[in-house]
Amino acid sequence: MTGDLNGRSVIVTGAGSGIGRAAALALAAQGDRVVVADLDAERADTVVEEIEQAGGTAVAVTGDLSEQAVVDRVTATAVERFGGVDVLVNNAGIMDSMSALADVSDTEWERVIRVNLTAPFLLSRAVLPHMLAAGRGAIVNTASEASLRGSAAGAAYTASKHGVVGLTKSLAVMYRKNGIRANAVCPGGTATAIAVEADRTAHGPAALGPHFVNLGRVSQPEEQAAVILFLASDAASNINGAILPVDDGWSAV
Ligand code: NAD
Repeated sequence: MTGDLNGRSVIVTGAGSGIGRAAALALAAQGDRVVVADLDAERADTVVEEIEQAGGTAVAVTGDLSEQAVVDRVTATAVERFGGVDVLVNNAGIMDSMSALADVSDTEWERVIRVNLTAPFLLSRAVLPHMLAAGRGAIVNTASEASLRGSAAGAAYTASKHGVVGLTKSLAVMYRKNGIRANAVCPGGTATAIAVEADRTAHGPAALGPHFVNLGRVSQPEEQAAVILFLASDAASNINGAILPVDDGWSAV
């Protein structure tokens, strides 16, 4: 890693809003050059403007990251503009409808799995050759409290975020000899734009209700970003495969 000493090439997905935006701003503020990847062009452009106004370097790439063509564009932009990929933050994600399994439609299942799990798989696969060629790299995945328990979301989101843990651990083991680390943050409730459109006719919300307790304080996106920055930095050089709750102790209760 080039460490915290400026100029790393960094990709942040879902960087147009919430945790991803906060991570992109903070990484750029320490001198990293950031590919701001998001579905929403207006949000991505706004974050790039914010970074540039603060004196940093960023470029927006917009599109659905569950599509290979978009993943290829994101990767090519990092390589062509910034000379490689030092850090990948797989952060883009969507909530589900909090439905219990029998109420989950094929459409909901496929969409949530594609965005939350397949997209990080596709982008990690795309950047790995560049990290391997460089002999270094850090991948930080935004998992969730729903990676740690069955009571934080519906079946689709819970399964997708448990999958992100598996992806992270597999990466950590398979590439530990190549100078590449992979870790995940598990945010508890965080004040962002993420939308829960709970299906009140479904079984899930009523079943979850009694278990939706001891959540702790809702965090600010910057508190999540600070941990992402740490895991992506040389300060975390011996941390590999860690699944780190950032949840005011929710997971400890
Ligand atoms: P957010 O909605 O504020 O930001 C998510 C961003 O991802 C948006 O800008 C959206 O346009 C983008 N995005 C969504 N689907 C995309 C796709 N297919 N391709 C490209 N971009 C896409 O939400 P957030 O809370 O900042 O979420 C960031 C991550 O944190 C997600 O993975 C989410 O699951 C996770 N998380 C959030 C919370 C919370 O309470 N906010 C808790 C646990 C985990």
